Amino acid sequence: MKKLKFIGVGGAMNLELGGNCCYLKDGDNLLVIDACEDATKKLVEEDAFKGVKNIYIAITHTHYDHVAGLGILIWYANFVYKIKPTIIYKTFRYKCNLKKLLKITGVNKKHFNLIKDSDFNMDGLTIEFKKTMHAPELQCFGFMFSDNKGKYYYTGDSNDVKYVRELCNDDSVKTIYCEVATETFDVHIKYDDIKDLSKDKLVLMHVNTMDLYNQIKKDGFSVGL
Ligand SMILES: [Zn+2]
Ligand SMILES: [Zn+2]
Repeated sequence: MKKLKFIGVGGAMNLELGGNCCYLKDGDNLLVIDACEDATKKLVEEDAFKGVKNIYIAITHTHYDHVAGLGILIWYANFVYKIKPTIIYKTFRYKCNLKKLLKITGVNKKHFNLIKDSDFNMDGLTIEFKKTMHAPELQCFGFMFSDNKGKYYYTGDSNDVKYVRELCNDDSVKTIYCEVATETFDVHIKYDDIKDLSKDKLVLMHVNTMDLYNQIKKDGFSVGL
């Protein structure tokens, strides 16, 4: 799997680092992971749509910092590029929630497709939505990607530090994109709880403060950007 390209690595209120959002471009396929408020603008600036025929969107959970730009992304794909994006989902409830969210924000259902995670295959890259602990009132997922070289985990927003530590010891997992914050606040992974893990394997993201961002860089971790 190619490296995910981040267009923002900030937590919900870290305006400086931008909404946590990334993409993967492979041939004429574009996979967008989460849609922060200005996702479309940033994807355009990065030329991410160039030569693209298929757009897939995977949303970790429906907190505003991860879905605020979803409608614009769908409209832009349809009206500017004549591409109907495909949104990947896991459970029936999650699919209904995404459809409801798009309906009440005026996005016509004819402008997007929905497929189950098990039906997604982007030139050999697959995705499995894994339920994770974050906001109890929402369905929240991490993504386990697989290809012929191994597995790659994207935590989404999560406080499941135990699972991250477990994956770090699993040789089949090549990269872990891991969210971090200064404290858990009951919903996030505290940086201090994972800072002893492999700097080769972890790519950190969703950083809530600039002080933490600077500390992470100083300690030698890669941050999405
Ligand atoms: Zn978030
Ligand atoms: Zn969240």
